[in-house]
Amino acid sequence: MKLIIHGGFFSESATNQETKKAKQDALGRIAEMAGQFLKGHTALETVVYAVSLLEDDELFNAGIGSQIQSDGKVRLSASLMEGKSQKFSGVINLENVKNPIQVAAKLLGTDDRVLSGEGAQIFARKQGFADFNPITPQRMKEYTLKLNQQERKGTVGCVALDADGNLAAATSTGGKGFEIPGRVSDSATVAGNYANIDAGISCTGVGEDIVSGALAAKIVTRVSDGFTLAAACEKSFAELQSIDGFAGVIGISAKGEMYHCDSHPYMVWASFDGNLQVFN
Ligand code: ASP
Repeated sequence: MKLIIHGGFFSESATNQETKKAKQDALGRIAEMAGQFLKGHTALETVVYAVSLLEDDELFNAGIGSQIQSDGKVRLSASLMEGKSQKFSGVINLENVKNPIQVAAKLLGTDDRVLSGEGAQIFARKQGFADFNPITPQRMKEYTLKLNQQERKGTVGCVALDADGNLAAATSTGGKGFEIPGRVSDSATVAGNYANIDAGISCTGVGEDIVSGALAAKIVTRVSDGFTLAAACEKSFAELQSIDGFAGVIGISAKGEMYHCDSHPYMVWASFDGNLQVFN
């Protein structure tokens, strides 16, 4: 049983060292809670649980505390993939819901598994998800001061391998901040979140770069083709350099390898496999 989570990138500026420490503390606490949860639950249930806790923490750019878009609204994207069934579900640009990953989880059992905008919101309301405004005073302050460039990366994700050897991956984001309404993040695509029976990957970084690199699906496919998880990540990141891509990933393989890789050294993540480790 293993679990790895991330809290996206933090700003490298000295003034944000406090935020970095707070994010690391939160990741440590949540990795430990999710690790305990994994002992009695499947990988799929656990990634939804972990990402819900991350969405509920205002420090991260997912759920509550998400970045505000150029028109003053928050639109959330989240996705989920189960390795065994190969099913992917997601919501894109969903408004006024507290936990988009839980809406994505409801979609996993349906025929139409990726919904966007208004359709996603109608589905969420039918499923009983209450109206919720995720804008926090801190994000409003940043929006007003147009400071988003400093703090823009803080997507969350989780990959878990359960006691039965099943893998699952989940990713949730508020996007990059100040984007044109309608912009689609990588987080609810197979570039940003992917799992099969061999490996699971969750990404963060510049969505356009992650999509250009088909990052999560490519890394997982390489593992299926015989690469170690580390070699699959390193090769895919080397390819990303040709477009000067900005990205970070966490992953677990069915063999139990856990790996993290990033193009810029400002990503925060934590793992739990009986022992808790928090990194940046
Ligand atoms: N990947 C997200 C996006 O481009 C942002 C992030 O990971 O911070 O929407």
